[in-house]
Amino acid sequence: MGPSDSDAGVVIAGEATHGSDHAVVAPVAQLFTGLRVGLPSLTVRCHRCDARLGDGECVSVYAYRTVETPDWHLAQCRCPGCAPDEITTPTLGATDVLLTARLAVVSDADAQQHSLCLTDPTVTDLSRPQDGTRN
Ligand SMILES: [Zn+2]
Repeated sequence: MGPSDSDAGVVIAGEATHGSDHAVVAPVAQLFTGLRVGLPSLTVRCHRCDARLGDGECVSVYAYRTVETPDWHLAQCRCPGCAPDEITTPTLGATDVLLTARLAVVSDADAQQHSLCLTDPTVTDLSRPQDGTRN
């Protein structure tokens, strides 16, 4: 009695196996949604002026990914007052991304922990691996 239902289940399972491949081509901003940042005290220190940033505040994030790895590395967090407008020194062989996001405390019910995460990230600048070779 529900042959169409079981067909649908097969299709969904097939898409799920492509999930990891799909993540690579997802919009960059989407990759940073929910990324954990900051200290166990649920604050982030501005890399430049040492201001404390917490839940609900905006933050500027600089991250990079080398061509060899799929992982993004969080290099710097800055307060809005110290946020650069653009990437001034692109890294050769790496994708650099500059984005702004809002900080939010997310609760992990299982671990009974709170984490400071990025929400609503917006990419403001992006450099590609070849951008470091300008000459
Ligand atoms: Zn600052």
